[in-house]
Formats: sequence, C-alpha cells, structure tokens
Amino acid sequence: MDSLFKGVIDFHNNEYKKHSKLFKKIAEEQNPHTLFIGCSDSRVVPSLITKTLPGELFVVRNIANLAPPYRNVSEFLATTSAIEYAVNILNVENIVVCGHSGCGGCRALYMNDDDLKNIPHTKKWLELAENAKKIVSDLTLTAGGKKRFAGKEIELLTERENIKEQIKHLHSYPYIQSRLKNGEIKIYGWHYIIETGEVYNYSSEKNIYEKIDEAAV
Ligand SMILES: [Zn+2]
Repeated sequence: MDSLFKGVIDFHNNEYKKHSKLFKKIAEEQNPHTLFIGCSDSRVVPSLITKTLPGELFVVRNIANLAPPYRNVSEFLATTSAIEYAVNILNVENIVVCGHSGCGGCRALYMNDDDLKNIPHTKKWLELAENAKKIVSDLTLTAGGKKRFAGKEIELLTERENIKEQIKHLHSYPYIQSRLKNGEIKIYGWHYIIETGEVYNYSSEKNIYEKIDEAAV
C-alpha cells in the first residue's frame, strides 16, 4: 500500500505539475472524444497505450471488455449506463472496444463448472462472449473434424472474435444505430498484444486485424 501513497505524492509533484494547466482547464467540464471499452486486466492501461491525457478517453472496463446487447430493463446496468452517457451526453465521436492478449476472461470461457464455482457472477457475465467461443470452435474444426488450431492460437482467435461480437452488440443500441447512420460516430475493434506493445485494428471490409503503425495513420 505504501507504494500507492508514494505514487500519489510522486504524481502530484511531477505529472500533475507538468500538466497543471490542463487539469485546471478540464476541472469544470469533460469533453472526451472516445469511449474506450477495455478489459479490467491490470496490464491494460488505456491512456498509456493511446498516449492520451486526462479528458480524452471516457473509459469503461469490465471482465473481457464486454458490451451487453441493448435491452430496456430496470436493473443496475454499469456498462450500459457508461455507453449511454458517453454517447448521448458526451457525444463521443469514437467507440473503441479493446481486447488484449492473454485475456483471463476469454480463457475462462474454456473452463469447466468446477473451475468457475467460486465466480458465479463472472461465469454469468461471460455468457456475453459465448458466441465468440462458438465461432472459434467452428473455425477450428476442419472438414475432417480434426483441429486446425490449438492453445495460444485458440486464445488469440477467441479474443479477436470476442471483440467483433461486442461490436455487434453495440450495433443493437438505437442511439448508436442512428449516429452511425448519420456518420456521427465510429466504432473500432482493437486487440492489444501485451508482450510487444502492438495494437491491431479490426477492418470490417477485409475481416482481418491490421497492425496500427505509421502506414495506418
Ligand atoms: Zn482481459
């Protein structure tokens, strides 16, 4: 815990001082350009991998970077509320669904009931990614019923299909649909590779993930 307290002091003495003008400017109001839907994983740091400053990203993080499909219910909906607020109040121009390598949430899709017995809410939550697993299992089997992919490949495919699934869910929100139609919002699917620091962007036209590099901007 000491290191957290020390971090706060260090932040105030250094980063805060460096950007003090910005902090004063954004103190009253935020105007983020992007809703970033990422995994809660401690290794995924949205502002670090996008080199953004406070005020730029409206972030919602949950296990396996999931966006539930639109539904009109009277419950406590954390992710849905964040999406609603970002789009309808903050008028973000972009939504990024960012998955990552080695995602424990995606891995848990392949665990049995016994492995998941202490995390019933996580198990339920991950039903939102179940279709990604189904797609990967179809991709994995060849005509002869033999497996084409194994281990790490299945993990990566699941993470990437999951991002596409969550983008599909976002398309079910009526207010996102209308903004997409009017060209007021764009949706991106990213896959962040922890060990290399690379981010791959999903191209829906080509149905592939392309590395974001100098040539892509
Ligand atoms: Zn994750």
